[in-house]
Amino acid sequence: MMNGDTTEPLLTARELVKAYGRTEALRGASVELRPGEILALTGASGSGKSTLLHCLAGIVRPDAGSVTYDGQRLEELPEKRLSELRRSDFGVVFQFGQLIPELTALDNVALPLMLAGTGRGEAQARAGEWLERFGVRGQGELRPGEMSGGQAQRTALARALATGPKVVLADEPAGALDSLASEQVMTALTHTARESGTAVLLVTHDAQVAAYADREVQLRDGAVSTLGVTA
Ligand code: ADP
Ligand code: MG
Repeated sequence: MMNGDTTEPLLTARELVKAYGRTEALRGASVELRPGEILALTGASGSGKSTLLHCLAGIVRPDAGSVTYDGQRLEELPEKRLSELRRSDFGVVFQFGQLIPELTALDNVALPLMLAGTGRGEAQARAGEWLERFGVRGQGELRPGEMSGGQAQRTALARALATGPKVVLADEPAGALDSLASEQVMTALTHTARESGTAVLLVTHDAQVAAYADREVQLRDGAVSTLGVTA
């Protein structure tokens, strides 16, 4: 679908190294995400998938190597610029949701829209539409503590997509869902991404989820072991 040889990557990790004490989470991991591409990042538990995603999002600083987004080296950006960029261009779905516990589902999704300058009424209306897309409109008044894991994941996806990001980085977005629900959520995510040309990095250990991607990259012990061929 994408022409991999001629399209400039939008987001690139080059030779990332990251250790937590004596645990080497990443040892020279490289990956490229092209505009509009859906890329699956797979690998066993503990292989470094979440760490790589956090480095790509500019949340974790690697010990060595570089992350480039749209021509800018993330490690060279001041923290303020980095958080602006994250807010405007990135939609991040964390492995454990990380919704704001005090806010309802609707307000969790509306918040980034309001931070981007949308008025409260309009932000809530749009948030409702995003919850609908992910099948949780009826749960809009629930706070995260009152939600099931699946409802929290659906809400986190709605929140990540609502601002119209250029890149979505999703860490096991269907991890708490059964296979039917996972199919619904993956369909909603990939349809939205295709419609808007959003690039998606999909971290998953589930082959059924990876099948939604154009391409797959596999991590083994903190490094890429196989590079999928772009069609
Ligand atoms: P995956 O997402 O593939 O399961 P992670 O990136 O979460 O892998 O973890 C890779 C390795 O780094 C694991 O051994 C994990 O225990 C370790 N690790 C990840 N994050 C931290 C952290 N914040 N502190 C200490 N060790 C960590
Ligand atoms: Mg993980």
